[in-house]
Amino acid sequence: MTTVPHWIGGSPVEAARYFPVVDPAFGKTVRQVAMADTQTVNSAVKMALTAYPTWRDMPPSKRVQVMYRFKMLLERDAEALCKLISEEHGKVLEDAMGELKRGIENVEYACGIPELLKGEYSHNAGPGIDTWSNHQPVGIVAGITPFNFPTMVPLWMFPIAIACGNCFILKPSEQVPSVAIKMAELLEEAGLPAGVFSVVQGDREAADALIEHSKVKALSFVGSTPVAKAIYERGASLGKRVQALGGAKNHAVILPDADLENAANTLIGAAYGSAGERCMAISVVVCVGNQTADVLVDKIAEKAKHLNIGPGTEPGLDMGALVNQAHRDRVADYIGQGESAGAVLRLDGRKHPLVENAPGYFMGATLFDHVTSAMRIYQDEIFGPVLCVVRVDDFDQAIELINAHQYGNGTCLFTRAGEAARRFTDEVEVGMVGINVPLPVPVAFHSFGGWKESLFGDLHAYGPDAVRFYTRRKAVSQRWPTESAQETAQFSFPSH
Ligand code: NAD
Repeated sequence: MTTVPHWIGGSPVEAARYFPVVDPAFGKTVRQVAMADTQTVNSAVKMALTAYPTWRDMPPSKRVQVMYRFKMLLERDAEALCKLISEEHGKVLEDAMGELKRGIENVEYACGIPELLKGEYSHNAGPGIDTWSNHQPVGIVAGITPFNFPTMVPLWMFPIAIACGNCFILKPSEQVPSVAIKMAELLEEAGLPAGVFSVVQGDREAADALIEHSKVKALSFVGSTPVAKAIYERGASLGKRVQALGGAKNHAVILPDADLENAANTLIGAAYGSAGERCMAISVVVCVGNQTADVLVDKIAEKAKHLNIGPGTEPGLDMGALVNQAHRDRVADYIGQGESAGAVLRLDGRKHPLVENAPGYFMGATLFDHVTSAMRIYQDEIFGPVLCVVRVDDFDQAIELINAHQYGNGTCLFTRAGEAARRFTDEVEVGMVGINVPLPVPVAFHSFGGWKESLFGDLHAYGPDAVRFYTRRKAVSQRWPTESAQETAQFSFPSH
């Protein structure tokens, strides 16, 4: 059986311990992934420290030459990368292509780093004094990423970090390790010097070693909220810069004036795409008024019944398998909990024929109506193809409901009323908002991040915030006195 190695110092590195990588569509181990220990992490950091001074001092315009070539190589190998994503994650090929394209946007953004790092300059900030601020790299930085976007989430991080002059160590999810190595190979082919980008495969042991290492100066984490919070707290206590993005429960509010046919069409994609394993998936629909709910729920139930489900690597499907058996069972358990709590189960994904008959970890589209905020299926992130409909009387209640939820990643509103839309964007306590846009994932030249329990730290991922996160400001004030100038001692604080 083939193995997926680490990538350290520009070469693949094998390990003493391995973990099975399972194709979730067939429930079959397809390869084994290396698992890093502290020593592996130490050697990646050592290689990064060796590469760092030369990479840091290289002009940004030269550094981005690598990124231009990397983008072309990602596009050249897109099909092979998507096949690997689909095989290890379970998502359908078209969805894998979507995540790769959104990931490549970040490489394109990183190609603009010479412009983004220009800094700020004030001539004559004081008498004969010029002041400028520049952005210097942080040093050795690390990224710990989740299973659900094996290329896109790492691409949120390392292209910008590297283009800013840092050396980057990626610890991908042990469930989807292969594309990280493919990207390392492509970076090498693009001309990236050895040690600037490393991959340490593994689980918590590898993550902890990165967090604890004194030379790792900044950590970007994306994953579940309990881990995000723990990593943020530990990293910050060690004096590191940390951004930790967590889980979500994203609400779509439907006002009575919305085009319900269009809303239903876009909502089934946003709720069931990638089998609901997206941090921006819509998992709650808040219908304002019973009439809106009655019509919309019927439409969603009818459409969701006909979704094509199967192994993600087969063409033309809507939904693939969930990532592993434990997760599929957990989703099934939530459906049982929803039923017991009294929600009306309009569509039961457990009854899909693939759940019983296929060897993989499938779950059909599930729809609950009459869900209340007291129910676990409403409160928790299920991360599966389960959509909950909550009925409210008016728009105020819809906003209150969202603002009371622990998560604040994404939300959207379906309406034709500009006034309501404006109020929604102003008042809703959520980091990313869509108006008639169900998955408001910002483009690469904006930044991505939620509020409340969906993000720990100050700066969001990718875009302008990533440039700030992966650089340190240095403000320089400079004066060149004339030779004849008579300096006198100044004891008051300089104020001019
Ligand atoms: P996870 O938290 O289980 O794992 C994420 C990463 O952390 C993996 O690399 C894993 O190996 C590592 N890890 C796991 N436990 C750890 C521990 N105790 N200490 C240190 N590292 C640990 O998340 P997941 O199941 O891979 O991904 C799904 C979660 O990610 C969902 O909650 C989803 O909402 C979230 N997510 C959030 C965003 C976002 O932008 N907010 C994006 C994608 C996914």
